[in-house]
Amino acid sequence: MIIVLKKDATQKDIDHIIAKVKEIGLEPHISVGVEKTIIGVVGDDDKMINVPVESFNGVEQVIRVTKPYKLASRDFHPHNTVIDIGTVKIGSEELAIMAGPCSVETKNQITYIAKEVKKYGANILRGGAFKPRTSPYSFQGLGKEGLELLKYAKEQTGLPIITEVLDPRDVELVESYADILQIGTRNAQNFPLLKEVGKARKPVLLKRGLAMKADEWVMSAEYIMSGGNYNVILCERGIRTFETATRNTLDLNIIPVMKEKTHLPIVIDPSHATGYSRYVPSMALAAIAAGADGLIIEVHNDPENAWSDGEQSITPEQFRDLMIKIKEVAKIVGKKLPEFSAV
Ligand code: PEP
Ligand code: MN
Repeated sequence: MIIVLKKDATQKDIDHIIAKVKEIGLEPHISVGVEKTIIGVVGDDDKMINVPVESFNGVEQVIRVTKPYKLASRDFHPHNTVIDIGTVKIGSEELAIMAGPCSVETKNQITYIAKEVKKYGANILRGGAFKPRTSPYSFQGLGKEGLELLKYAKEQTGLPIITEVLDPRDVELVESYADILQIGTRNAQNFPLLKEVGKARKPVLLKRGLAMKADEWVMSAEYIMSGGNYNVILCERGIRTFETATRNTLDLNIIPVMKEKTHLPIVIDPSHATGYSRYVPSMALAAIAAGADGLIIEVHNDPENAWSDGEQSITPEQFRDLMIKIKEVAKIVGKKLPEFSAV
């Protein structure tokens, strides 16, 4: 249920409504906007059936939400969510550019790449320490040692870190190093993991599942938010279709769709979406043109010898060339990049 307040509603009116909602055992969420203030009510709406909310002082309108999600819904929270992680406000006019290797490999590798991507405009460092590999025989990531190396690279560059958490038992550990927790595509409906990161205090980047419909994806965000963590960033990374010319099929339609359904920022991962480094720049540019709030891109100084996903990793030089173009596209859609000198 959404309670829209009159412009002249007083604090006393608001307090009264909130007290009533709580008394019934439901949870009120206030969203103060320039135009309107609304109170979203989470829980079983039926409990409100005998409460004449429409007649309470300060109430303009009561809307019963039929969508299965609430906290993530734009009806509930009309203005965009902006997540402040220090170097960048994700969802603001400044683009969030998360760049780095698929996997953290060595101290030199992660530090070198971190410095390079920072030089060319990245404001967040990506790198996997716990890797979700299709084969149990593939490199599974350095684990805690990888987190330590990310921390070192952060100290050297000032870039905040995004890294994946695979297991609910590791959330506390990963959270103690990461600035953003990444939930991978294979775990987009791992509900115990979603509940665990819902209790975390760090923002969560939620990748879209391999074959997830838009509403299912929003429901996964809702899982995290219902645990009290409202800082969710959506990430489209390509979905599985009949097409095999690329690793996945990048669904750029989903940007305006998700902007309509939710108030959450959305970033695009052109690396996993295409699977080939030569296709990454076009899709990155298209994503920004389509209104994405940022990118997460795999960058490696030696893609041929990368421990994972080398074929889709661009080099720091290719990253620089891409960022020069992104800077131009960003201007057209009212976004901007952090200042960097490309030459
Ligand atoms: C990754 O970011 O390296 C990764 C494994 O991504 P995804 O979950 O999209 O496959
Ligand atoms: Mn990868």
